[in-house]
Amino acid sequence: MNAPLIDPFARKIDYLRVSVTDRCDFRCTYCMAEHMTFLPKKELLTLEELDRLCSTFVRMGVRKLRITGGEPLVRKGIMTFFEGMSRHLGGPLDELTLTTNGSQLERFAQPLRDAGVRRINVSLDTLDPEKFRAITRWGSLDKVRRGIAAAQDAGLRIKINTVALKGFNEGELFDLLAWCAVEDMDLTFIEVMPMGDMGEVQRLDQYWPLKDLRARLAERFTLTELAHRTGGPARYVRIEETGQQIGFITPLTHNFCESCNRVRVTCTGELYMCLGQEDMADLRAPLRASEADAPLEDAIRRAIARKPKGHDFDYSRQAVEGQVTRHMSHTGG
Ligand code: SAM
Ligand code: SF4
Repeated sequence: MNAPLIDPFARKIDYLRVSVTDRCDFRCTYCMAEHMTFLPKKELLTLEELDRLCSTFVRMGVRKLRITGGEPLVRKGIMTFFEGMSRHLGGPLDELTLTTNGSQLERFAQPLRDAGVRRINVSLDTLDPEKFRAITRWGSLDKVRRGIAAAQDAGLRIKINTVALKGFNEGELFDLLAWCAVEDMDLTFIEVMPMGDMGEVQRLDQYWPLKDLRARLAERFTLTELAHRTGGPARYVRIEETGQQIGFITPLTHNFCESCNRVRVTCTGELYMCLGQEDMADLRAPLRASEADAPLEDAIRRAIARKPKGHDFDYSRQAVEGQVTRHMSHTGG
């Protein structure tokens, strides 16, 4: 294996998130505009290029690989990619996982398990079918719930990701918690982030700070702060009354950058060293320019050498400062 990837702040980069498509079968209001223009196919990395890229990162010390999008399971032939990646498991790669909206899980849960996936994140913001349709613009909650059931039958451990949205799912906090307890699923809340131009949707109107959500939980339950951290923006508490572990992803109110161990690659092969900064490196050019991996490795090392210390998101000035113009579906959430 090559020398590990260490950035200028002595952070070891061993977690890669890869977006395999910018397309999605939903249009969540906080993530995409209703009418999105998607990239022409030739811009996207092919499945073979994705395999080469991810395998190179694994050789360079990546131990956890998360596949995301867009909706990763709408990418044609994506199971071929997962099956290919499974060859690194049990060797240099510790974990192969994905973040999905769950719409295609009925079909893909078992093949994913067969490819070595053990845990998945499923995004779900409400348990009300009407509200679910409204927030995703055209998703079916029923289909997602069938997908979740299929994933559990296949033996996949599930973490639900819920974006905290003011005036939308505030009233469902305890229902979501109870549902996850009954289904034995983990639950993580995400604070809404200023990504992309959402047109009519005013982001500050949607902002429900997780410290408020947490305070509401604490009115009913005893919360114990847990020490374990993932190198990412998630912090965890245990609810003593139910034994549940709840995560909070608060990239805006807390700075998590000092322990950041991750980088992201978009579906066009752009390497973003920080979710909240515009700087990136094009990895598609070296991938396509040569069959040898040396130029690609070189481009990756040069990029990691300029990974910034942190991001500039800030809601506190009552304007969305440090806003990044690209959508989450582009970088992969
Ligand atoms: N389609 C898949 C899904 O929804 O899980 C994977 C991609 S999606 C971009 C990844 C995660 O980003 C989802 O949990 C979604 O809720 C979250 N997300 C999207 N836009 C966001 C935003 N503006 N702020 C916070 N989270 C966002
Ligand atoms: Fe699609 Fe996921 Fe974005 Fe929703 S959050 S529009 S499911 S990519």
